[in-house]
Amino acid sequence: MDDVWDLVVIGAGPAGSAAALRARQLDPDCRVLLLDRAAFPRDKACGDGIAAHARQELALLGLPGLLDDHRPAPRLSVTSPGGAHVSAVVARPNHVVPRRVFDARLVEAARARGVEVRRHRVRTLTTLGEHVVLDGHLVARTVVAADGANSAVRRLIGVPPSPDRHTAIAVRGYADVPPDDDVQVIVMQGEAWPAYAWSFPVGDGTANVGYGLLLPALRDDDRPGREILHGRLRRLLPQLGEIGSPVRDLRAHHLPLSSGRPVPGAGRVLLAGDAASLVNPLTGEGIYYALLSGRLAAESAVGSPGDPLRAYRRGLRRALGRHLRTTDVLALAARSPGFIDAAIAVAARRTEVFDLLVDVGLGAGTVPPRLAAAVALRWLGNLT
Ligand SMILES: Cc1cc2nc3c(=O)[nH]c(=O)nc-3n(C[C@H](O)[C@H](O)[C@H](O)COP(=O)(O)OP(=O)(O)OC[C@H]3O[C@@H](n4cnc5c(N)ncnc54)[C@H](O)[C@@H]3O)c2cc1C
Repeated sequence: MDDVWDLVVIGAGPAGSAAALRARQLDPDCRVLLLDRAAFPRDKACGDGIAAHARQELALLGLPGLLDDHRPAPRLSVTSPGGAHVSAVVARPNHVVPRRVFDARLVEAARARGVEVRRHRVRTLTTLGEHVVLDGHLVARTVVAADGANSAVRRLIGVPPSPDRHTAIAVRGYADVPPDDDVQVIVMQGEAWPAYAWSFPVGDGTANVGYGLLLPALRDDDRPGREILHGRLRRLLPQLGEIGSPVRDLRAHHLPLSSGRPVPGAGRVLLAGDAASLVNPLTGEGIYYALLSGRLAAESAVGSPGDPLRAYRRGLRRALGRHLRTTDVLALAARSPGFIDAAIAVAARRTEVFDLLVDVGLGAGTVPPRLAAAVALRWLGNLT
């Protein structure tokens, strides 16, 4: 067996890299091993939208300038299933950075901070007293499992997978767009609701385009999933046809939504990011949650080595508890497309509501009761 690592992190996406970076930031002597089955740079099916809230997490990790060479996307345009529309400048601009670039930068930053990075696919895990043994020879005091939506470690520690009704599936590709395009576009649709398509300009004459819906809605349709996903993507973004450029690199993946989140770990193994089902059920945002939960997991491993899971659950509750309860309720309300029509219609008239919805959809925002009442009244008004 190897020496004992203070922390072994499985998966080097945003959640895993954040955990590794934070552990070394808090304790430069901490022995941290970061494992991933892939060699970096590697692609990951994603909309590549990096919210301002995620950049705030990068700053906390000591990487405030990581995306400075990328042009921000200052404007967001949303069309609701019933056709309500808002297009406005966001309070803090988002970025669109291909994951092949973003994730590799995080891994490099971790390496530069003294994290040992190895290519390794984890297949087994056993607990031995105060230690966790991976694949029979890697020994850790604490493990952060950040191995994504289909987390093998989650299964190995007995946490059930995300139920289908709390899982979405989305396809993404890349298309050519005018080089000055700087608007993040979201087009929702009533068919198979909740579902939406997006076009997020990277800033180099290409955009990340995609379409996603809940898994049961895809399974209810007899046609092949690929045909449904690709067909709706093209139908909802007709501008793709006008430009005439094909959509390249189409790739789909699951999104385990936070409305079905489990206990985030067992014993000395902490689940972070998608492995903990931390994806916003309203928007599919997961990078901010991944960075945040990875950071909190490392803080618990370093600061509370006796019982890291207890500290981690407390940290998650403090950082996201009210927000996640808010999105649980909103996700239920949003099963009625009329609710989203009302919310977007109110946001189109009131900038503070638009900003708040962005905070709920991309960050850790909550909804004040007065606003909830305003949207509910409009929704009920539309029903009568
Ligand atoms: C189509 C699509 C569009 C999306 N768009 C957005 C968006 O625009 N903005 C946003 O914020 N979120 C978006 N999301 C969600 C976002 O992609 C995820 O929430 C985010 O990637 C979660 O990060 P993570 O670090 O938890 O997992 P991942 O980024 O999935 O990283 C997991 C890592 O674990 C590694 N791994 C897996 N198994 C093992 C193993 N057994 N051993 C070792 N390594 C392993 C993998 O190789 C991978 O590198 C989207 C998701 C999809 C599917």
